[in-house]
Amino acid sequence: MEGKFPLKKNDLVMVVSGKERGKSGRVLRVFQQKNRIIIEKINFIKKHTRASGQTRQGGIIEKEAPVHISNVMVICEKCNLPVRVGKKILDDGKKVRMCRKCGEILDK
Ligand SMILES: [Zn+2]
Repeated sequence: MEGKFPLKKNDLVMVVSGKERGKSGRVLRVFQQKNRIIIEKINFIKKHTRASGQTRQGGIIEKEAPVHISNVMVICEKCNLPVRVGKKILDDGKKVRMCRKCGEILDK
């Protein structure tokens, strides 16, 4: 369902629990059905690749793994902190997300 998911691509977020706690980055991908997101340079996992026709050698590549959205918070760039997100309806009827702390609109 569009509009229900709290995070969007390019949001600046911070991980607030788990082993990556305290790290922040941009959202690269959103998996709405799984409630997971991929954040730039966060939660790297090593993946073994097998040698195939095109690559002669197998090896290990590092790749971002999805993080559950319950482990992240949006960073308000004005507060420079992870904040709770509220909703606001603009004069033209458009729904936007806003920082509950300072009122800054997070959708641009
Ligand atoms: Zn704020």
